[in-house]
Formats: sequence, C-alpha cells, structure tokens
Amino acid sequence: MTEAAKVVKCLVWDLDNTLWQGTLAEDGEVVLRPRVRDLIAELDRRGILQSVASKNDHDEAWAKLEALGVADYFVLPRIGWGPKSASVAQIADGLNFAHDVIAFVDDQPAERAEVTYHHPQVRCYPAERLDQIATLPEFSPATVTADARDRRRMYRAGFARTAAQAEFRGPSDDFLRSLDMVMRIDRAGEADLARVEELTLRTSQMNATGVHYGHPELTALLADPEHEVLVTTLTDRFGPHGAVGLVLMGRHAAAWHLKLLATSCRVVAFGVGATLLNWLGAEATRAGVHLLADFRPTARNRMMDVAYRFAGFTDDPCACRTDLSPPELSELRRLHLVPSPASPPSTMTVRAVPLAGPFPEGGDAWHSR
Ligand SMILES: [Zn+2]
Repeated sequence: MTEAAKVVKCLVWDLDNTLWQGTLAEDGEVVLRPRVRDLIAELDRRGILQSVASKNDHDEAWAKLEALGVADYFVLPRIGWGPKSASVAQIADGLNFAHDVIAFVDDQPAERAEVTYHHPQVRCYPAERLDQIATLPEFSPATVTADARDRRRMYRAGFARTAAQAEFRGPSDDFLRSLDMVMRIDRAGEADLARVEELTLRTSQMNATGVHYGHPELTALLADPEHEVLVTTLTDRFGPHGAVGLVLMGRHAAAWHLKLLATSCRVVAFGVGATLLNWLGAEATRAGVHLLADFRPTARNRMMDVAYRFAGFTDDPCACRTDLSPPELSELRRLHLVPSPASPPSTMTVRAVPLAGPFPEGGDAWHSR
C-alpha cells in the first residue's frame, strides 16, 4: 500500500458549516449538511472512528449533536475555544494513533492551515469535498472485519475500562474478577479469516513465530481436517475486546503441533495467553497427546517464550517429536510439553469448543453448554 493510500483511522469533524449548515452560536437552529448523516454511518460501518474539533460552547454543541441523533458516533470530541491543532493532537493521543492516519475536515482554510502548520502529517480536507470522501482510497479499507464494524464500541469500552481501573483500589485479580470477562475459543470460519490474518500481522510481543499467514494459506488450513484454526474473543461488562487470540494447530498421532499461537498485546494483562495454553494442555490431556509448540525468536517476542516456559514447555527430547517433519526455518525451536489437566482461571469464564472428541458428558470446567 502506498503512503497516500494508507487508510484513515479517524476522521475529525469541524461542526459549523461543515457537519451542519450554519453557525450554532449565531443561528441557534442548524441542520445537518445533505448526505452527512449517511456519510457518518458509512464511515462508522467501515471501522473508521470519528471525532469532533469545534470552536463552540461544549454543552450547547454536544446537545445539538444529540438532538440531531449523531452524538453517539463520536469518540473523544474536543469542543471548546482552543486551537484546532491542539484538539486534533489530543484526539490522536487519546486514540494512540499516529498523525498520518488522522484526517480533519473543516470549511475554514485558516483552520486547516493552522492544523497543517503544526501537524503536517494530518490529512486536511475542505468541507466541499465531503461528498467525495466515501469514494477516496484512504477512506476505503480493503476488507471490513467484524471487529472493524465494532471498533467504536471497542474503543468506548476501552476508555471506560481504563477509567475504572484507575479508580479501582485493591488487588489486580479483584479488578479482573470485577470485569466479568468471558473468553470464547471457537473454530474459525471463512468469515473470521480476515481478522485472523489481521491478528497474525498486528501481534508482535505475543506472537510465537512472527510468521505471517495470508488468506489463501488460512483457507487451505480451514479445509484440512488435520488442522485447527482457532480464534479467541473476549468480552467484559464494558463491552467487546474483539478477536484477541489465534491458534494454528496440526493434529498428529502422538502430539498436537502448535504452529502459531498469537494473542493481542492489549490483553496480556488479562491472562489470555496463559489461559489459552492451559486450555490446550487440558484438551491434549483429554486426547492423550503431547503438545509441541514452534517458537522463533523475533526482536519483540521474548514475552511469548516466557509464556511457554511458564506453562511448562521445555526443549526435552520425546518420541512424539518424530511425528513431525523437522522445522523448515533453521532458527525455529520446537518446545515440548507433557500436558496435565489445568483448571480455568478464577478471573474469567471460558467457553471453549471441545477439541478432544465429543462434548464431555455433563460438561467440565472448560466446556459447558
Ligand atoms: Zn512428547
């Protein structure tokens, strides 16, 4: 993808004579510009976040956005009398986005120039171009995953969760328990592949090999009965985290082969990686097989090595290793575990697909209907 076509992750709106027609402080009554409501909904559907940088009285402008039925679409709005360059920078910081994925639309050339002067990487658009925005390549992501459609809710939930954590007084496990987390481990379907692929690209610290699997390879693995492609999602009382973990696994007679295990860095503190490994151990025990896990050191994934070691994986020899052909990559190490039945953590509810044969009679700690 060329620099110019890099997809915008957040569009920041001016209000007066941009989002709506007229100047709120002078006209009082304003209406949305034609087609703006559809544009907002469409960008939201594409997973592009939207915010506001407006020079207005905050409470009046926000009340107007609510009355117009669009307030819900905007995250981290900055409405006040400060310079727009500062508002745009605060929005980028709050979202943890680089400036080159932020866009700003304003009818006033002076406001756009002020933002450009301070933040040359922010892409500025005049209000006259609003009608074209949905057709521009930088506002047209190649694929729109389920998580992209949920992105606004995920960010909202993240802000609320972070605020609750900052206020929480007590042991961190008590905070985790207060979240009412539910982790699901499911077989991926065709519709999940885009977000599975995204996870292989976006995870770095908690990625066992750093090997990228593209759409065709993942499709082939889905169709292969000797392989499992598992996707992990997490939700809590604040909302969804989306897809947070991925396992690519080959089944052999004496061992299950973890070709790739990756979890999102955002949820390391919630214990997602350790829970996945414990569940795999419990299922392998039920199936009567050992676990073999590929690990390839990258510049950033030492944490993953630690997670495997903590779960009991070693370099020990074992007859089950001969089930597999030797690693194709020379720097790849194959770790081994004789699994034991582990219990789910007390900090979350796990709902997992039974990998080792049919659903356990009456359910067990990991599987309940
Ligand atoms: Zn073994």
